[in-house]
Amino acid sequence: MQLTSAMTLMKRYRTLFFDLDNTLWDFTANSDEAFAILYGRYGLARHGIPLEKLLEVYHRHNDRMWEAYRQGQLDKETLRWKRFYLTFAELGVRDEALARRFEKDYLDTAKRMTRLVEGAREVLDRLHARYPLYLVTNGFNEVQFFKVRNSGLEAYFEKVITSEMAGALKPHPRFFAYALDEAGADVATTLMIGDDVASDIAGAAAAGLDTVLFNPHRRPHHGHPTYEITRLQELLTIV
Ligand SMILES: [Mg+2]
Repeated sequence: MQLTSAMTLMKRYRTLFFDLDNTLWDFTANSDEAFAILYGRYGLARHGIPLEKLLEVYHRHNDRMWEAYRQGQLDKETLRWKRFYLTFAELGVRDEALARRFEKDYLDTAKRMTRLVEGAREVLDRLHARYPLYLVTNGFNEVQFFKVRNSGLEAYFEKVITSEMAGALKPHPRFFAYALDEAGADVATTLMIGDDVASDIAGAAAAGLDTVLFNPHRRPHHGHPTYEITRLQELLTIV
């Protein structure tokens, strides 16, 4: 754990905001598993597409298109099918119908996965007893609600607050203003915990919240989180 100033030691938080994907719900592992299942179901090996290559190309297109979506350059429907269309096209299969079908199957399969980030349940068990907890997430409503229920996270949280409800995506200040309002929380006593330097940390900091960057792979970054942790259990030494 890294403290950026002695003042932060004096802070007492009353409300905790958690990001969902790759902070509590192991998005990377769950998504990879869904891909492996669909890879077999769609017989993609027959097209000569190795699974590792599929994942590499998909992540590149997905990251780029999510960024465009965050910037408001793309609508949700286009993002959903086109990331798969571009992936398959790059791998030599230019087929919009296939991309649309794969996208539906992917979301439907991935949302059923239940793997959580190591330490998530233990930490939530402890914090749930002491703080009102809120999930603040950029995902699609129908997917995020299902994941939260299906993976047993729902009971820990007062509310799941999504970008669709807020009408703005993290890191937009409107998202955090909406979330604080929904939670009836005070900006000075609310702590945002997330794995994404741009949407979780910079966004929340700009809105005036203290932040915890969860950085399990110790990726270098240029963010300015109030705290930085590599294991979720370290949260218990902060709050
Ligand atoms: Mg995340």
